[in-house]
This record gives sequence, C-alpha cells and structure tokens, in this order.
Amino acid sequence: MKLIKATAEIKKDMKKHRFRGRSIGFVPTMGTLHQGHLSLVEQSKKENNITVVSIFVNPTQFAPGEDFAAYPRDFETDKKALRELGVDILFLPGGREIYPDGYSTYVEVEKPGQVLCGRTRPTHFRGVTTVVLKLFNIVTPDNAYFGRKDAQQAVIIKKMVKDLDLDVTIRTLPIVRAADGLALSSRNTYLSRDEREAALALSRGLRKAEQFVGDGLRKAADIKQIVKKELEIGELIKIDYIEVVSLTTLEPFDAGNKDAEIDVNNTLTAAAIWVGKTRLIDNFILGDI
Ligand code: AMP
Repeated sequence: MKLIKATAEIKKDMKKHRFRGRSIGFVPTMGTLHQGHLSLVEQSKKENNITVVSIFVNPTQFAPGEDFAAYPRDFETDKKALRELGVDILFLPGGREIYPDGYSTYVEVEKPGQVLCGRTRPTHFRGVTTVVLKLFNIVTPDNAYFGRKDAQQAVIIKKMVKDLDLDVTIRTLPIVRAADGLALSSRNTYLSRDEREAALALSRGLRKAEQFVGDGLRKAADIKQIVKKELEIGELIKIDYIEVVSLTTLEPFDAGNKDAEIDVNNTLTAAAIWVGKTRLIDNFILGDI
C-alpha cells in the first residue's frame, strides 16, 4: 500500500493508472475505520483494479462548536486495516493540501442539503460536496463507494454527480451494525456505557417501524410515531428529527397531508438523536439509492 500525502503526487499516480487502462475505485473516509468503512473497501477491491482510500477529517463539514477538534483519529490502526485488505493507495492529505490559504470555492446541492440533517447542520453538506468533488477531481475514480448509513449524503452526492455531469458511478452499500443493532459509527467511541445502551433505542425504533411497514403500515405519520415512541422511553435521548421522506427528493410524505402514505419503493425513514453530547443518525430505506 502506497501512502501519499501530496495532491500533485497522487494525481501523477492516477494518471499513470488511467493510461494503463486500470479501473479505479475510491472510498472517501474521515478515518477511525470500522467494518462499515471496510465493507466499502472490500466492495471496491472486488470491482476495480486499483482501490484508493482517503482519510481526511474535513473541517468545512463541521460548524463552529461541532466536534472537529475532538473527532477521533487513529491513523496507525487505520493504516494496518487498509494494508491487510490490500488497498493500493492511501491518500492522507493535510488540511492545507485541500484548503490552501485563500481557498474560496464551494459547491452546494441546494434543496436536498437543507432538509433532515441539513436543518440542524445548515453548512454540513456544502462542506461534504465540496471535499468530495475535490477528491473526485484528484483521484478520478470510475466508481466511488458510500454507506447508506449516511443516506442523505449519498442522495446529495448522486445529485451532484448528475447535475455536474461527473464521470463517476456512485455505489452505495448497506448499513453495517454491531451485534446489538447499533449502526457502526466513528462517533460511537464518544458514548459512555449508559449512553450506548440508551442509543440502542434508535435502531430498535427504526427496526420496529420497518417491521410494521412489512406488515402493511403505510401512513408516514404512523411510521414516525412508532420510532418516536421508542425514543421517548429513555431519559438520555433528545430527538433531533424523525422524518419519512421520498428517497429521490427527500421531501416528507406528510408535509401537506397528515394522512399521506409512503411509496414502498422509494422511501427513506431517517432519524437523528442526541445522546448526551453525541449526535447519532440511522435510517431504513425502501428502494434504491
Ligand atoms: P465517515 O468516515 O463517517 O465520513 O464515513 C465514510 C463512509 O463510510 C461514508 O460513505 C459512510 O456512509 C460510510 N459508513 C459509515 N458508517 C457506516 C456503517 N455503519 N455502515 C456502512 N457504511 C458506513
């Protein structure tokens, strides 16, 4: 595995691989890798000649007061895991490499970036799309891999790729969970034992709602209510949002009509909660992204 920190160097390498006709798979991450990240790497390895992974804790997707400084970083363990999986290139740019002095260009996918997580984190997706577009330009991947845990992010990136005619295929993969159901997340390391226990209500509520939908429940408001009920049991949890939205537009089904029904082939049920100071997200999807 080649470790590259400089943009100019990785660009030269990627040019060489492209010239030789090699397909390139790319997995952008913020590190502190877990099996969720590694499932993306494994898929890229299966589908491409060359797999590139980036680790970059992207400052522009954190608002002031969020956890940019505290975000867990464990490069040595990450490197070892990626080497063992046979990753070809690990791109580890420094902050100045991506955002040199005077940097002032941002890309924003307007509407789907302002709902769900975008309501609480209004500048978050602008930071995500900006860094992902930059990384796409640097790595020039044929395929890029994203997890459905960040379903809104995947929808937004797909929209950016379509709107800007980017030459990359976005592949999304299922949420990887711990044995107790909690969706794996680098932020789970923030949780105390009690908080982790309380956090399980999120996956439990969503699973319950999914089961009800499987049994024929169709009213968006009722689906939300099932998740809400589960989340309201614990005292440690504060609900940020619970929404049932179209997977393509991210518009809530019940916006203008409280009796509205979901489209069973195109629905995202997503929730975000605070457990103490930790913000966690989870979802279930009916349909494809
Ligand atoms: P992050 O390091 O949090 O930016 O995540 C990098 C990629 O890993 C994103 O595409 C995430 O959606 C994906 N990812 C994170 N957690 C999971 C998970 N539990 N299951 C599947 N993919 C995940």
